[in-house]
Amino acid sequence: MSVLLQPLSDPLLTQKGVELAVLREDLLHPGIPGNKWRKLKYNLLAAQEQGCETLVTFGGAFSNHIAAVAAAGKEFGFSTVGYIRGEETLPLNPTLAFTAQQGMLLRYLSRSDYRLRNEPHFQAQILKTAPKPYLLPEGGTNLLAVKGCAEIITELTAPWDVLCVASGTSGTLAGIVVGVAGKGKIIGFPALKGGEFLQKEVTELVQAYSGQTYQNWELQIHYHFGGYAKHTPELLAFIQTFHQRHNILLDPVYTGKMLYGVFDLIKQDYFPAGTKLVAVHTGGQQGWAGYAQRYGLAWPSAKVAR
Ligand SMILES: *Cc1c(COP(=O)(O)O)cnc(C)c1O
Repeated sequence: MSVLLQPLSDPLLTQKGVELAVLREDLLHPGIPGNKWRKLKYNLLAAQEQGCETLVTFGGAFSNHIAAVAAAGKEFGFSTVGYIRGEETLPLNPTLAFTAQQGMLLRYLSRSDYRLRNEPHFQAQILKTAPKPYLLPEGGTNLLAVKGCAEIITELTAPWDVLCVASGTSGTLAGIVVGVAGKGKIIGFPALKGGEFLQKEVTELVQAYSGQTYQNWELQIHYHFGGYAKHTPELLAFIQTFHQRHNILLDPVYTGKMLYGVFDLIKQDYFPAGTKLVAVHTGGQQGWAGYAQRYGLAWPSAKVAR
């Protein structure tokens, strides 16, 4: 399975003398795009080895992770149960309609119950209700996810200096840090406001997985555009121009913000001339249909939904 490393040509890159390529992880797997497939791979193998039958997980109503688990369950023969934050809204939004179509059983948790999702006692209660359950945390981040994401860098078939990746729960960033093992520089772009808390998360995941501490990574925390799943007209305009110019559709929650940040840093001469940058496209386009509906956006058209 090989992923495309797609070089961009752009006046800004020429002007600043830097190179930028997009690693098209979004094309990795037809039904389970990008980093969600990387994060699930070794978890699915573990679930199989342990004789588990039901994948149980948590997520918001527009979650890429929930969509990926539903698709993975269908493809690999697991039942799936998704615990969704908040009340049921009908008709189901496009993400949840897709998961239901894949056979996922949807259950809804009040916001206060949802806060208990990482409590062992609460998890034990939930797991009692599913036959031979295998629990995946929210966003799918655990050490097997880190192991899967460490493989992203095997797709880098050309020399590079700096790798850029969007960050939510930070399993993907931790995996990349582990994978490169001190080589080059990695920049994570948190999609949440207050993303500095990821400093600790990444450090702990990297330490737990590899027993190492690496210094060759950093967070750029100012590209959240108001917070998780929030946007500004400027962000949407950037994503639209990027699509027209490079024929690559970014998502509004993660990769759009990350690439906006990458271009902004290039503008500010953050990278010396000659730097070879790679931005990892982690997928997430499934979210567009629901996003456009929720915010009444005319673009992108519904054809980007699965
Ligand atoms: C989930 C997701 C991320 C964040 O991955 P983490 O491992 O949670 O940091 C980034 N990009 C896309 C498109 C995602 O769906």
